[in-house]
Amino acid sequence: MKKAFAMRQKIVVGNWKMNTTRDTGRKLAEALAAGCGKETDVRVGVCPPACYLALVGEELRGSSIGLGAQNCHWEKSGAYTGEISAGMLADLGCRYVILGHSERRHGMGESDAVINKKVKAALSVGLEVILCLGELLEERQANQTFAILERQLAGSLDGIDAAGLEKVILAYEPVWAIGTGVTATPEQAQEAHAFIRGWVAKNRGDKAAARLPILYGGSVKATGSEQAAAAVRALASQPDIDGGLIGGASLVPEDFLKIVAIVHEVG
Ligand code: PEP
Repeated sequence: MKKAFAMRQKIVVGNWKMNTTRDTGRKLAEALAAGCGKETDVRVGVCPPACYLALVGEELRGSSIGLGAQNCHWEKSGAYTGEISAGMLADLGCRYVILGHSERRHGMGESDAVINKKVKAALSVGLEVILCLGELLEERQANQTFAILERQLAGSLDGIDAAGLEKVILAYEPVWAIGTGVTATPEQAQEAHAFIRGWVAKNRGDKAAARLPILYGGSVKATGSEQAAAAVRALASQPDIDGGLIGGASLVPEDFLKIVAIVHEVG
């Protein structure tokens, strides 16, 4: 079944988090580059740990896979020990940077205001931002999902107009689904994605909302059983789901490539 918004780019991005070594990261990148070939119908990105960006970038050279980072600082340079600026990422050949991931919002205490500064810094050097949003389990149980998404959208995108949004990809990642093996149902995910797109339409205009890719993330895995593949197919078939941000399954070439293949097939 083809979707109504065929104009929207389909995107699958792997978030390697704090995993891999020089050797396993290089082999993973090599396998993904070989597996994706010149695939362009689905945009594919990988976000290795910062220390392996250059190495993985070399491995991906000539492939259709874009390089991404998992975080950046909002300042251009200076006395920020341990930090990496958006400009440095662009200098290393990154196309994407993930910002606002729940492991940084909740694990490192990053506020919407901090994330907003990072989004602006990344856009100012031409990076594409993959901005993550999502509610905690207790927030969903208290029927606060939409209020949380609204707060995260308004805060993280403060001062970013429709033109700025052209370099933004959103990722709805319910925190209770990340790394837990529990995936949102297609209906739950579609409801959240439609809410997010509706917020963008209301606050940045219909055109910005119609072109904005919104990825789903949270325990997406398509291998191991027919049911697993069917579940990913059902998610990818939702009208407002434009691909995935993949954690655990992005570390195994066959697992990641199967997701890319399903997103491609669903179209
Ligand atoms: C993530 O961390 O962005 C993620 C979606 O992780 P996982 O796929 O492992 O749930």
